[in-house]
Amino acid sequence: MTGFSSFDLLPPILAAIEEAGYTTPTPIQEQAIPHLRDGRDLLGIAQTGTGKTAAFALPILDRLARRRVRPGSGQARALILTPTRELAAQIDASFATYGRRLNLSRAVVYGGVGQYPQVKSMGRGVDILTATPGRLLDLMNQGFVKLDRLEIFVLDEADRMLDMGFIHDIRMVISHLPVERQTLLFSATMPKEIAHLAQGLLSDPERVEAAPSATTAERVEQKVYFVDKGDKRAALIHLLRQESLTRALVFTRTKHGADKVVLDLEKHAIEADAIHGNKSQGARERALSRFRSGESRVLVATDIAARGIDVTGISHVINFDLPNEPESYVHRIGRTARAGREGVAISLCDATEVVFLRAIEKIIRIPIPVETQHPHHSEVAATARAIAAAPVQPQNRYARSSRPSRSPREPGAQERTQRSRVRADQPSAASPAAQRSAKPRSAPQPSAGHAPSSARPPMARRKRVD
Ligand code: AMP
Repeated sequence: MTGFSSFDLLPPILAAIEEAGYTTPTPIQEQAIPHLRDGRDLLGIAQTGTGKTAAFALPILDRLARRRVRPGSGQARALILTPTRELAAQIDASFATYGRRLNLSRAVVYGGVGQYPQVKSMGRGVDILTATPGRLLDLMNQGFVKLDRLEIFVLDEADRMLDMGFIHDIRMVISHLPVERQTLLFSATMPKEIAHLAQGLLSDPERVEAAPSATTAERVEQKVYFVDKGDKRAALIHLLRQESLTRALVFTRTKHGADKVVLDLEKHAIEADAIHGNKSQGARERALSRFRSGESRVLVATDIAARGIDVTGISHVINFDLPNEPESYVHRIGRTARAGREGVAISLCDATEVVFLRAIEKIIRIPIPVETQHPHHSEVAATARAIAAAPVQPQNRYARSSRPSRSPREPGAQERTQRSRVRADQPSAASPAAQRSAKPRSAPQPSAGHAPSSARPPMARRKRVD
């Protein structure tokens, strides 16, 4: 008997959950499953790490297994649309775990690999199809996938989809769905575009919300190390040599930066792999499985690549570069402290990044403790932070002053810009678009020649990674 018994799910599903070791539903499962069992549409504000996959997978499996229908060729009964191939593979694996006693058919469709096996798996139609938008549309256009008999549609990580430029593809997929269906939309944040999309897509939805992202941050022991830019690699090596660090996920802002860090670690005899959008599917999967099995203790990743990583037992998240979108920080550190565990997040912050640090502290609503007891402590960076944190003198903009007008490059000016744009009282509700606009225009670039990808306009169509 587990806490899942009250959901009235089929016994083979309850047995599979028990075998997976789940005893208590997570808050999003607690809230969402009863509505989904009732056939309602759902708007879920939740990010990866909250248990949202089981929140939708369990009732979907239940519904499909209670009323078995043989799908026609190329047809799917349930479609889960997700932004990255890692997430697609992970979601499919979750359906396999929870549905292992049900004998329902599944297929997973994503780009970056040959389409033939996917076309073949759709030949007889499937109960559950998990897909990324680009490849799904390709296969639909070629007539290999048909969605006109779809019963359940899940749009996962909608805000990320928007961010990655998939919105047009999504609308195209939606235009092929039957009107009569159950629809679920999950998003970590609710920018205007997603709210608008949800309005057109969902019919009288129930709205459920997992604990806001800031609570994830509270479970993680966070520290900031002030270092000079040139000392970052030495500081990282110093950290990685500590024994308490059993499995570390290191974040860099750029793909090139991730490769450079891995090369450097290898020179110092530290096994590490990089995972990012320029790596082939095979290389990503190898890196992930080496990391999962403990063969390599360190995985270096960019934000987008890491979004799909579900590895338990990550003891440390290390921010080699601070993210320039504060929300990414919360996503990053949420990779440790998964499913109720504790974890440590360490940020290496140089003087040019204190502005990012301030923006992060605003959304998590706590100052991150500074660790000075390490060989690479930088007083320059520490001072830059102290200056950035100093209150700004109010200025009378009509008064003539002999002081030259404040340049936007000055820390105080950056602070003012942020203060006026970031709503400190509603940190987790601030949309990525709002947070992007909160980014000071003059924010220092992390490493010369490699502008962060998020510097592009929010709606710009980005390079696909699926
Ligand atoms: P998700 O948010 O779906 O990516 O899930 C995050 C992690 O939590 C996954 O590793 C799941 O296997 C795990 N998980 C999901 N639901 C539960 C639960 N009720 N109890 C324990 N672990 C869970």
